[in-house]
Amino acid sequence: METRILTCIGCPLGCALTAVPGSDGYEISGYTCKRGLEYAQKELTRPERTVTSTVRVTGGVAKVTSVRTATDVPKEAIWDVMKAINALEVAAPIAIGDVLCGNIAGTGVALTATKGVKAK
Ligand code: SF4
Repeated sequence: METRILTCIGCPLGCALTAVPGSDGYEISGYTCKRGLEYAQKELTRPERTVTSTVRVTGGVAKVTSVRTATDVPKEAIWDVMKAINALEVAAPIAIGDVLCGNIAGTGVALTATKGVKAK
């Protein structure tokens, strides 16, 4: 293990976090609140991200809708999630919050619409 420098993404303050290897894992400093500590612990052990993208729409007034994963997915699964999103095509009408896929790329995480598309 080596010293890691991270930037907390928990709020706009963006605290600079330092993770120094210790006898029992990393010793983390630089956080202003416990969200920063939790972010660093997660980032160092099992990093995750929310994925946002677009999905093709048929029969709608727009050709695509914007989407996001309902929760974070493991960082190593992002490529598979993007491939699954690119292969997806949904029919209008679509409302904000509609679940377009209940288990995207086998992650167990739903993919939801963040933009509504009316039917033609
Ligand atoms: S540690 Fe707390 S205050 Fe600092 S950026 Fe993260 S969430 Fe914001």
